[in-house]
Formats: sequence, structure tokens, C-alpha cells
Amino acid sequence: MSTIGFVGLGNMGLPMAKNLVGAGHSVNAFDQVESARIEANAAGINICSNNSQTAREADFIVTMLPNGPIVLSVFEEIVPAAQSGTVIIDCSTIDVSSSKNTHKLATEYGLGCLDAPVSGGVGGATAGTLTFMVGGENEAFEKSKPVLDVMGGKTVHCGSGGAGQSAKICNNMLLGISMIGAGEAFALAEKLGLDQKALFDVISTSSGFCWSVNTYCPVPGVGPQSPADNDYQPGFAGALMLKDLLLSQQAADETGAATPMGQKATEFYQQFVDDGFGDKDFSGAIKALKTMERNSQ
Ligand code: NAD
Repeated sequence: MSTIGFVGLGNMGLPMAKNLVGAGHSVNAFDQVESARIEANAAGINICSNNSQTAREADFIVTMLPNGPIVLSVFEEIVPAAQSGTVIIDCSTIDVSSSKNTHKLATEYGLGCLDAPVSGGVGGATAGTLTFMVGGENEAFEKSKPVLDVMGGKTVHCGSGGAGQSAKICNNMLLGISMIGAGEAFALAEKLGLDQKALFDVISTSSGFCWSVNTYCPVPGVGPQSPADNDYQPGFAGALMLKDLLLSQQAADETGAATPMGQKATEFYQQFVDDGFGDKDFSGAIKALKTMERNSQ
């Protein structure tokens, strides 16, 4: 069993850290919010007095934080405190450039480093069924695999440092676009007087087949249970979709990639959030579409 440092005990981090404790690891953690520390302590997680203390005796350090600048500032605290050979696994979703900088910093201090953003949300974090998309050196990946396997159901090694974040934002850009597309198809069908269940039965077995329809249909009462059946409670909040779409557009700007649909999807979810729906599931896009006039699109 390993000693694991953990920084960021929020919606995702706390259940992930709990699963590590449940598997028999010793977890030394910190979060800047006191209530998170108290809840973690009650779950058998050792609470440190600051971020750098989580690193001192750690074989692995997991970070689960809001954005790139915060992850980099936490790395600046934990990297000098870690012992050589420790592997830092950043599971946050952050921009590719910041992620590459975390790898650079860790390497300078002789530490292993992985970017390992996740898919699966709070439900997956709690159940230990997250999917990890991992970037980093093979040796660090192989060493960390047993730790990732406690928190997740599937792990894909995507390439060198930053490759996990790259895979995550490409996947989520496609997801944002496809959810808007699914919403448009069902909204148009309604205007045409076409039964929503009939359209689901067609699309889910035809060339429009996609996760946004087959697994996570944005129409209530149609297809498998989804946030649409629970008044669009997340699930995956619109604000988090916007975050990932903005990261995709930052990456597109930096690389010169043309992503016109990604840009449209970003503008759409920006409006969704500005209109006060950021805490609703992103599949609530269909409700926003239904309130739009054709000439205002
Ligand atoms: P969250 O805001 O609930 O948790 C982040 C935690 O980090 C908070 O508890 C905060 O207090 C702590 N924190 C911030 N700065 C800190 C610092 N300097 N030192 C110590 N602690 C600090 O966010 P979350 O929903 O748990 O998401 C975490 C990451 O996972 C994000 O990058 C997010 O994009 C990604 N993600 C979230 C979901 C989801 O469904 N929530 C799904 C996939 C990926």
C-alpha cells in the first residue's frame, strides 16, 4: 500500500480520495476550504496543515483543482517538498500549456508526472469508475496504474505530457457540439409534429447514432434515464461544459486549428451560462434552443 498526497477535496476530489482510503492507502490531504477538510477527516483521510505537507512522505500526489493557474501554483508548493521518485498525478481539467509546464517543473526536480483528466463526473468519482485520459512518460504511467485503477474503471495512455488534456478537450468539444445537434434535431422534430420517441427510435439505430442521443437523450421520457428526466439536474453542468469548450478554443488559438463548430458551441454555452443556466445539466441546451427564434440564431 502507498502513501498518497492529495490536494483538492471538492466535488470530485473528496470521493476519489475516499476510494483510495477504502483500498487501504494512507492519504495525506489538504484543501483550502475548512468544511472539505472536516468532511475528509471524518472519512479517514489525514489532514495536513498546507499543500506542501501533503507531499513530504508521498509515493504519489494527486491534484484535483479548478484550473491551470491554480494547478501551477500548487505544483510550486508541492514539487520542492516531494522526495525524488514521487509521481504527481494531476487529474484536473486544465489548458494544455499549463499542463506541459507542470511536467517541466516536476521533471526539473526529478519527479514523475502525469496529466490524467477524467470523464465520468461525480457519480464516476464516487463509484470508482472514472475514465482517465493520461499523458506522460511510460514509466510514471506504469507505476501509477494501480492507483488510477482504484479511482477509475478505464485508463487510456494517450501519449507524452499534455496528451491527456488534449484528448479530454477534443472529446468534450465534440460532446458539446453533438449535444446541441441532438437538441436541434428533437426541437425541429417537435415543430414538424414528429413524435419524439419515434425520432429516438430512428436516430438511435441510424447514422445519427451518438452518445448525446443514445445514452443521454435531452428529451424527457425518451431513451435511457438521463438528466432530462430529472429537470436537467446535473450530471454535467453547463458551466463545466463551457469551461472545457473555452479550453478547446484556447488550444485551437494556440495551434491554429480550425474549429468553427467548436467556436459556435462555445458561444452557445456562454449564452446558456449568461442566461443563468450554468448549474443546469448541459443537455438543457434543448430548452434554450426551444426558446430561440429562428431569425435570432
Ligand atoms: P470543486 O470546485 O468542487 O473542487 C476543487 C477544490 O479545490 C475545492 O474544494 C477548492 O477549495 C480546492 N482548491 C482550490 N484552490 C486550492 C488551493 N490553492 N489549494 C488547495 N485546495 C484548493 O471542483 P470539482 O467539480 O471537484 O472539479 C475538479 C476538477 O475536475 C476541475 O478541473 C473540473 O473541471 C474537473 N472535472 C469535474 C467534473 C465534475 O463533474 N465536477 C467532471 C470531470 C472533470
